[in-house]
Amino acid sequence: MNLKIIGSGGAIPFPKPGCDCDNCKKALEKKIPYERICSSLFIYPDILIDTPEEVFRRLMQFNIRKINHVFYTHWHPDHTQGSRIFEFLARSGFAGKPNNPPVNVYIPPDMMKDFDKYIPNFRYYEQRNFIKIISIEDREPVKLEDLKITPVDFKRPDRVRYGFLIEQDNKKVMYAPCSVFNAKLDKYWQDLDILFLETGWHGPQQEYRKKEIEPWFKDHISFEENIKWLKKLKPKKMVLTHVEGSIHQTHDLMLKLTKNYPKINIAYDGMDIDL
Ligand SMILES: [Zn+2]
Ligand SMILES: [Zn+2]
Repeated sequence: MNLKIIGSGGAIPFPKPGCDCDNCKKALEKKIPYERICSSLFIYPDILIDTPEEVFRRLMQFNIRKINHVFYTHWHPDHTQGSRIFEFLARSGFAGKPNNPPVNVYIPPDMMKDFDKYIPNFRYYEQRNFIKIISIEDREPVKLEDLKITPVDFKRPDRVRYGFLIEQDNKKVMYAPCSVFNAKLDKYWQDLDILFLETGWHGPQQEYRKKEIEPWFKDHISFEENIKWLKKLKPKKMVLTHVEGSIHQTHDLMLKLTKNYPKINIAYDGMDIDL
């Protein structure tokens, strides 16, 4: 199985737009691993999970030219806002040139309700034949050649959020980059070679939760919970992604926080994972 992190940033990328702090300047100057677009994963040969704003630039930079299948974790803009990639891919040119075949976009019905409500351009792309929307069901695998991709609903009562179990040649990987707080952890989260997980917010968990330091903390796990999940689910390896720009989780800070946990790696844009 060959995977590539296309984007590893949280809801706010690095550098944080509008910010002039030293951390953001460093990201601007040094670029990768400090510079991060929002989160996205590529599965070779032609599958993408999520389309953040700048996804097309990273795909070009990383020499990825062909996308035939796209899956989504949820509708939020940091995961969908780069959807014009479909228009770029489908339109092979102007003046009488035919379009490329539509990209297959896999969305479960509950998530499609959110897409129809918040991002109607998906229906426009469907009408224009840039994409073909394929309805998928929770925990029902989609088979693409020798890859098996299973959408795993976190089963949160308050919102629709998915992760994906990716399987090939007896290797199992879970990609759960965002909003995993209160996710139902069943057999789909067990015996993993790699667990890609959102980077939890750092700081004293109980105090921050109680004080509601940030409203989004209740939708996302803390760094302490990252460690708890590592111990509970026992993946062979954990890759923390969705590293948050809004609270300046710099690459250096994350390396420091995880230095005593050899099983944890910090994702960066362009990171290759082969297993
Ligand atoms: Zn900054
Ligand atoms: Zn997110």
